Amino acid sequence: MKEIYIGAGVGVFIFLAAVGFNVVPLALFILVMGGFIYFIQTQGQIKFNDVSRGVKSGQIISFDDIGGQDSAINELKEALEFLVKPDVIQRMGIRPLKGILLVGPPGTGKTLLARAAAAYTSSVFIATSGSEFIEMYAGVGAKRVRQLFLDARKKAARENSRSAIIFIDELDVLGAKRGKHSGHMEYDQTLNQLLVEMDGITPDEDPRILLVGATNRVDLLDPALLRPGRFDRQVQVGLPDKEGRRRILSIHTRNKPLRSPEVLDEIAAATFGFSGAHLESLANEAAILAMRENSPTVESVHFTEAIDKVLLGEKDSRKPNRQEIERVSYHEAGHALVSEMVSPGSVAYLTIIPRGGALGFMRKSSHDDQYLYTRMELEKQIMVTLAGAVSEELIYGDRSTGARNDFSQAWQTAREIVQSGLSSLGVVSIDDLPDHMLYEECWKVINEMECKTRQLLSERLPQLRKIAVVLLDEESMDQTRFQALLN
Ligand code: ATP
Repeated sequence: MKEIYIGAGVGVFIFLAAVGFNVVPLALFILVMGGFIYFIQTQGQIKFNDVSRGVKSGQIISFDDIGGQDSAINELKEALEFLVKPDVIQRMGIRPLKGILLVGPPGTGKTLLARAAAAYTSSVFIATSGSEFIEMYAGVGAKRVRQLFLDARKKAARENSRSAIIFIDELDVLGAKRGKHSGHMEYDQTLNQLLVEMDGITPDEDPRILLVGATNRVDLLDPALLRPGRFDRQVQVGLPDKEGRRRILSIHTRNKPLRSPEVLDEIAAATFGFSGAHLESLANEAAILAMRENSPTVESVHFTEAIDKVLLGEKDSRKPNRQEIERVSYHEAGHALVSEMVSPGSVAYLTIIPRGGALGFMRKSSHDDQYLYTRMELEKQIMVTLAGAVSEELIYGDRSTGARNDFSQAWQTAREIVQSGLSSLGVVSIDDLPDHMLYEECWKVINEMECKTRQLLSERLPQLRKIAVVLLDEESMDQTRFQALLN
């Protein structure tokens, strides 16, 4: 058919030229249109990241390579039964799953789980991200969705696999509620196409297709995606607890010469709130620091310094002047002293070496993960946060801009007190609370804590001076040194 059209076109062209018609503008028009159509078509083509059976950089990812996600792994395995035991599922008349949604913060191992699922079920694995479907040209996203499913089926056939797992990271970019975007027609078309493809998945299809989506904003997803028969299984992939962090650290230090494996317990305890990705980076940074020091093994100090690097970034090349450094010493000494007063043993490390935009910082030690706080604990946090500025004020008679972040953190904690119904306002709905009432209540809490902090520090000025002077001289101090100074 194509040949007939081309032949007819060329014939008409020659005829027009023969009867004296100027064919140059027509030829130009056809050339431009052809180029445009070709451009639009190639925009729809995309090479999805196709990885065979959970293999990443030549290494097969299994569930044993994922730490701190035991309940997510169990839930996922249960959902994958229909790919592992298709005959039983068919005999029992069970409707197989079409989609599993992994929900959790960045870097917690959602991609790893999807890869491990592919290895576990001997499925081919194709990975992509929601943002790869978003283009300014109408129809391109929908075309890419069709191509994605086609690629998965082709790849499974090529590799003689009976199933394929399609992983879509950042599903919220592609699957956000319809009608909400400014260029919403294109977004809606893309999502509609995904729904159509999901509906087209049948139980007896060979290869069987399973969609695994990942997001940390499940609230943004279109309800049509979440209804039974589509992404009807949600697996929570949260931040790891202490035991989980220990396991992740041991996974990522398997190939590193550790001075003693016990150090990992200490590091796991000190890294509350770290994701798997943070911990991987931490293990890597510790090994880099050991290498720079020509140390044959990675030791506790390397891990501790790596925590600061992962939390705050590289050491700064900025050199504050002498007065600034002195002020920072008093600021940090203030934080540390109040922290020690309100919760003994809570100061892990203190430094005035600038890093990641901060001129100094104090790291607290944490031994047990904590998820609930009482009002008193939150108040203590506010006192520690305000102590830097109060200390500057007691020593110099004024404050500096260095406390800006501390204040916003203190304000955030005060807000938490009000929001959780722990303030004098009692139980409140933060959305219905007038702004001025919220402001006044937060201010009251902060003001009260500021007075307490001032009193605490002014009673301990000699200790404050002592810590600051030593810190100025030694630049950093760990828990043992700090305790020795206080005693
Ligand atoms: P995002 O939502 O940002 O895409 P993600 O949840 O998909 O993140 P991954 O890409 O799976 O996170 O993890 C990034 C890296 O962090 C992994 O390659 C791995 O090195 C490490 N990592 C994350 N979580 C874990 C874990 N639970 N166990 C072991 N390593 C982990």
